[in-house]
Amino acid sequence: MHKQPITIIGAGLVGTLLATLLAQRGMAVELFEKRPDPRRQGFIGGRSINLALSERGLAGLRMAGLDQAVLAQAVMMRGRMIHARDCTTNLQRYGINDGESNQSVSRGDLNLLLLDAAEKAGVALHFGQTLLDADFARHRLTFADHDGTRHDHAFARVIGADGAGSALRAAMNRHAALGERIEPLGHGYKELEIPSLAELPDTALTAQQRQRRDAGDKFAIEPNALHIWPRGNCMCIALPNASGSFTVTLFLPHRDAEPSFASLPDAARARHCFETDYADILPLMPRFDRDYDDHPVGTLATLYLDRWHLDDDALLIGDAAHAIVPFHGQGMNAGFEDAAILAPLLAGNDTAGVFARFTQQRKPDADAIAAMALENYVEMRDSVVEDDYLRKRILGNRLADLAPTHFMPRYRMVTFTSLPYAYCVQRGLAQDTLLGQLLQGHAEVDDVDLDAAAATLRATLPPLPPLTLPGA
Ligand code: FAD
Repeated sequence: MHKQPITIIGAGLVGTLLATLLAQRGMAVELFEKRPDPRRQGFIGGRSINLALSERGLAGLRMAGLDQAVLAQAVMMRGRMIHARDCTTNLQRYGINDGESNQSVSRGDLNLLLLDAAEKAGVALHFGQTLLDADFARHRLTFADHDGTRHDHAFARVIGADGAGSALRAAMNRHAALGERIEPLGHGYKELEIPSLAELPDTALTAQQRQRRDAGDKFAIEPNALHIWPRGNCMCIALPNASGSFTVTLFLPHRDAEPSFASLPDAARARHCFETDYADILPLMPRFDRDYDDHPVGTLATLYLDRWHLDDDALLIGDAAHAIVPFHGQGMNAGFEDAAILAPLLAGNDTAGVFARFTQQRKPDADAIAAMALENYVEMRDSVVEDDYLRKRILGNRLADLAPTHFMPRYRMVTFTSLPYAYCVQRGLAQDTLLGQLLQGHAEVDDVDLDAAAATLRATLPPLPPLTLPGA
């Protein structure tokens, strides 16, 4: 059966994966991107920005046959390395073994790989095309070329994968209100960098780091971890790059707090704060002053919409539909999961009402990951060092060992399975309540009778559902 061609706006991470999946199913797909082709122009700014890729994202890539190529470029992260103020470190593993680990991938390299895959699958790529407006009655899109010339383009069905500031969303909203609500977090972020060992001056290195460098090691700190410096109301994190460098991200309130981006407006003042709060990484950032002064403060917000679609004409996916704060490392993963769910629906035989069906299925999950991402900020910057959190974490891990059919920590459900996000929220809440009850009256986790706790767990909660992977 002849399928309607699909027009996708935005050749970022999500738009290119969706385009590839649809073209691989024999559909005619055209992809419009406002930037020039990064394979020819190089990424603007040229900085290494990385992302945590986990099971949902991998499942989408697996569906396109791209998972192994992406994994070959990634650095495995087996847990959170917590850096205390006194510079001691402690690894909190994500899962039971290295099979449950996150992958640190370069945003730029992943985008290049996806663009190549889209082109190979037969997607028509159009770069330097900025969407300005859409006329849904006449089925026409208005673009500006790189030189500003406007032109119209006919579409049958259009999908907006054009990110948090989506122009397609704005056009849809002008046509019929989508119920848009944007909730700023009040905290922003700034990207800094720890270069590879070979690039660091001798004076910045300990004897052990120099020894490792001389033996050929590239990484100044542990490569196979997501590093966190939790500092109450703020934090730093660092993710490894395959080159040996780390992308460091500082998260701070914008203002009305100490420290905040308002109270640390320049490198001189920020350096003073780092000397006390992040003393172990400051020597490893020789370009700290330049990076701090040159790199912008990014803003963070959650986007909520009542609807992601306009009839069978237009749909939003990825950040354009549900931008979230980055603290669960799930924005791209959720967008890839969107693509993996949507592609078979669009390529199926009955596509009437497909955009409404997709929205209905997916929106509760998007709302759920938005809420969990917000909660995870508090967990990462604060709770990871609190007694109550640690006691629940230890007991949860023991119960997961003892009764794996009935207990899986929520982080593992979100990160290493494709159980719907909304289920993870609900199950996580029930498990957390039970952990609280089991720990009541016990100062130490070792005081809890584990066999009795597992029996209570089995009697209280139904078994976990069988695990489903959308790409399998
Ligand atoms: P984008 O990546 O924003 O792509 C949109 C594309 O559309 C771009 O190429 C843009 O140029 C193009 N475009 C925009 N407007 C137009 C227009 N008018 N016309 C044509 N083209 C247009 N997610 C994770 O899963 N793991 C992480 O560890 C993680 N870390 C993050 C850290 C930070 C600091 C931030 C801010 C986000 C993080 N995310 C993470 C989230 C992730 O970056 C996003 O969810 C993901 O990039 C969304 O992909 P997208 O394709 O929907 O949108």
